Amino acid sequence: MGKEAFRVVAGRALTLRCPRCGVGPIFRNVLRYSEHERCPSCGFVYDPKGESIAFIYLSTAVLTGCIGLVMVLTQPESRFWSRVALVAGALFVYLTTLPVRKSMAIALNYLQTPD
Ligand SMILES: [Zn+2]
Repeated sequence: MGKEAFRVVAGRALTLRCPRCGVGPIFRNVLRYSEHERCPSCGFVYDPKGESIAFIYLSTAVLTGCIGLVMVLTQPESRFWSRVALVAGALFVYLTTLPVRKSMAIALNYLQTPD
């Protein structure tokens, strides 16, 4: 797998499409986070082992890193309200980026073990 393959697969992940064919959608309904088990177009099984390690890594490492950066870079006047905002912001980011993170995890798994 070269850089070009990575670019193609990552692009498919960002548009929530199958990493193998780029046609089939990963989610039945993005707002409910309900996924297809396999690609409706080519039959590729998206996540045969359940929750992937890549997904957990992307979820925790990236978000925790962002939260840590915010804590280091801001000088809040009210400690209470800064904590409330931090928790609310973290939840918002976690929920809104879930489909893309999941899609990217499927793409990374595909790059490691393409069928
Ligand atoms: Zn497909």
